[in-house]
Amino acid sequence: MNSDLRDLYQEIILDHNRRPRNKGVVAEANHEAEGHNPLCGDQIKVTLLTENGLVIDIAFQGQGCAISTASASLMTEAVKGKTVEEATQIFREFQQMVTETGEAGDYSDLGDLEVFQGVREYPVRIKCATLPWHTLHAALVGEEKVSTE
Ligand code: ZN
Repeated sequence: MNSDLRDLYQEIILDHNRRPRNKGVVAEANHEAEGHNPLCGDQIKVTLLTENGLVIDIAFQGQGCAISTASASLMTEAVKGKTVEEATQIFREFQQMVTETGEAGDYSDLGDLEVFQGVREYPVRIKCATLPWHTLHAALVGEEKVSTE
């Protein structure tokens, strides 16, 4: 990864950490789950409203490091307005992007989420980046709590 790209990625993560999007609670949520990453101490609660298989609204709240907060913020932007199926597909692709070893794949279709590609070089941070996604997935399949341990 060239250093200009790395700087840009860092800028996006810092921006979403400073001004998280969709922070709070969806008042009329019909799905919710809490996630915990004991390794780092990240705590997150995801609430969302789905209707006819569409993610109408989604929000998150909690306490976490810059990576987990930025990841949650970018996640809410990525899945809002998508179908539940599409959201699940993005979750799988995201998961693959941050955990695969060897040559980095092409994840340009993930948009801004691609900024987390660098995380795979820092194994301890992978759980921070994936926690919001595991929590979203738990909410969608009806589990109330999820832990990365
Ligand atoms: Zn963390």
